[in-house]
Amino acid sequence: MRWLAPILLVASLLFDLGGAAEAAADGGRRDPTRGPGARRLPHRSRSLGFPFQGRLRGGVRLRESRYLRYVPEYAAAGNHYGTWELVQLLERAAYRVARRVREGGVARLSVGELSREGGGRIPGHASHQNGRDVDLAFYMRDGRGRPYEPFAFAEFDADGRGVGPNHALTFDDARNWELVAKLVADGDAKVQFIFVANHLKRRLLREARRRHAPAVVIERAARAMVQPARGHRHANHFHVRIYCSPSARPACRDRPPLHPWYR
Ligand SMILES: [Zn+2]
Repeated sequence: MRWLAPILLVASLLFDLGGAAEAAADGGRRDPTRGPGARRLPHRSRSLGFPFQGRLRGGVRLRESRYLRYVPEYAAAGNHYGTWELVQLLERAAYRVARRVREGGVARLSVGELSREGGGRIPGHASHQNGRDVDLAFYMRDGRGRPYEPFAFAEFDADGRGVGPNHALTFDDARNWELVAKLVADGDAKVQFIFVANHLKRRLLREARRRHAPAVVIERAARAMVQPARGHRHANHFHVRIYCSPSARPACRDRPPLHPWYR
């Protein structure tokens, strides 16, 4: 397998060069929110730098609604600011899940932390620094099959059963799949990663096939869902990251992988 290393090196260089060319091309483009004839956008939020070393300017606060709630454990810290794109994406996704899966009543999306109002470091996170990361609790059901709203994140095993004190809870395959499907198929915000443990990724893809989801959506979900190689394996929540919006580049920085739906 000694021949493999140089090939991987060349491939990664090509990947980086591709990204640099893309950033350069974008930097030359006129910012549509500035200057005469500028398009009026409903927001001025800007994600600067990288998720692990960045700031957030004009962050938009995600608000609770009929379809969305804060995970109580993280509510007091108030780290609920994101770019306009991320906040809008979460509202659309929560609404869609509530509309598409009605079994047992309306289930709200339980949201952990996004970023601080101005970005920067948050205790307990390496990233979440520039408004493009969010932690989401899984949708789950109680012993009677009704949607359950947890106080904190709950871990699930490969059979979809809650671990430890949460053994009476079950992983809500239908709602969690609908959430993932919306995240990867959204026409505006582009999702780069959904960090989630491999055993739950397998469950979600199985559910997708069972529900006859479009092949293109399954393909995107299979690429975007990743169990991190190091650190937290994400068996108790999704961590979602979106790419920089085109108008925020090149001050906003993305790293590979640049999926085929990235522009
Ligand atoms: Zn996270």
